Amino acid sequence: MPAQDSIPLVAVSNRGASRLKSGHLWVYRSDIAKTDSIAPGALVHVHDVRGRRLGSALYSSSSQIAIRLLTSKVLGENELLPLLRQRIDDAVAFRHKNVHGTDSYRAIFSEADLLPGLIVDKYNDVLAMQVLTQAFDREDLRQTVVTALTEHFPGSSLLDRIDPHIRELEQLPPRESQLVLGEKSATVFTLNHVRFHFDGLGGQKTGAFLDQRENYAAAARYAHGEALDCFTYQGGFALHLARVCSKVTGVDSSRPALEVAEQNEHLNPDAHTCGEIEWIEANAFDLLKDYSAARRHYDTIVLDPPGFAKSKRAVDTALRGYKELNLRALKMLRLGGVLATCSCSFHVGEGEFLEMLAASAADADRRLRILEKRGASIDHPALSGGPETAYLKCVVAQVIDYK
Ligand code: SAH
Repeated sequence: MPAQDSIPLVAVSNRGASRLKSGHLWVYRSDIAKTDSIAPGALVHVHDVRGRRLGSALYSSSSQIAIRLLTSKVLGENELLPLLRQRIDDAVAFRHKNVHGTDSYRAIFSEADLLPGLIVDKYNDVLAMQVLTQAFDREDLRQTVVTALTEHFPGSSLLDRIDPHIRELEQLPPRESQLVLGEKSATVFTLNHVRFHFDGLGGQKTGAFLDQRENYAAAARYAHGEALDCFTYQGGFALHLARVCSKVTGVDSSRPALEVAEQNEHLNPDAHTCGEIEWIEANAFDLLKDYSAARRHYDTIVLDPPGFAKSKRAVDTALRGYKELNLRALKMLRLGGVLATCSCSFHVGEGEFLEMLAASAADADRRLRILEKRGASIDHPALSGGPETAYLKCVVAQVIDYK
C-alpha cells in the first residue's frame, strides 16, 4: 500500500468503534487515545482497541469531533485527493439527476455526501463554499475542491464563506469571506419559479434556506385564502403562498430580514394573487398570542422557527416552545385550514414532533388530517446512521373538524 507507513494511526475506544460500526462518521475526542504528534487535518488510519482496522478518516487536533471517517477502506495518502474528487463528482451528478425546477441547491452537503467538513451551495451563477474543518482548509484539499467546482460549473463565481466561530473551534487562522473565483458575489436566483436576491459579501447578507425548497412547493399545493407565515426570514414561504392565497402576512423579528423579503417581493411583480404582502416585524410568540386572543382567523399558517433544541438537554423546553406555537396557530385556523409546521432541531425526532402536533391539536379541539410528512429537499440528503443529517421536519396538515 503506497505511503501507508507514514499515515498516523488513531485508536478509538469501544464506544467510538461501535458508533462507527452503527454507520456514524464521527468519533469524539473523549473516545480516542492520546494523539500528540498528528498534524491538524491529517489523513489518519483508525483502529479499535484490539488493533482491528476501522477505516481512514480526517483528523482535527482541536474540535471535539476528532475523527470524521471518510471510508472503511485503508487509504494511502496519494489516494486521498482522487477519492475526494470522485466524491465531489458523485455529489454533483446526484444533483443533476435529482434536483429540478431550480437554479439553486446545495451541491455538496458534508457528511451526507461523504465529504465531512465541506458544504457548497449553488445560487444560480454564484457558488458559496463553507470549510468546516482543518482538513478541508488544507491547501491541497482546497485546490482539489476549487478545481472540481470550476470544471463542473464553468463561468460561475466562487465565494469562500467564513464562519469565524467555526475557524476558532478548529483553531484555524482568521480569514475573511472572499471571492475565490470570478467577480460576482451577488445574484438573483430562482426556486420553483420564485425569484430571490443572493448577496454573499454585501453588508446585508442574504441567502436562503435551500433545504426548504420542496416544502415551499408542498405548502403552496394546499395553501389558500388568508395566510400567515411566521418566522418568514426573507419571505421563503410567504412568496410561494402569494401565488395561491388571497392575502399573505409575513412575520419576523428581524428588520433586515424583512427588508430583503420586501425586495424579494418586488422581484416577482406579476406573480401574486394576493396584492401586496404585509410584512410585520414582531416576536411571533407574542403576535400569535395577541392574534389568537383577538380571535383572528386564517386559512393557512406556516411555522418555521429557528432551532429551539441546540442540545439533547434542551429538548423538553423546545417541545414546549413548539407546542405553544402550534396550539395557537391551530386555534386560529378555520375549518379546512392548512398548517405547515417545521422543526430544524435534529434533537427533536419526527416521532416527538408528530406527538407534539397531536397534543396541540387535541388541546385546540381540532382534528387534523396529516397531508404530508416531509424532510429537507433532495439536495440535502440524509445519511443512514447519521441523525444530524436528518434534522429538518416539515408536516403539512389540514383541520378537518373542530368543536
Ligand atoms: N422560513 C424561513 C426561515 C426561517 S429562519 C425561510 O424559509 O426562509 C428563522 C427566522 O426566525 C429568522 O429569520 C429569525 O430572524 C426569526 N426569528 C427568531 N426568533 C423569532 C421570534 N421570536 N419571532 C419572530 N421571528 C423570529
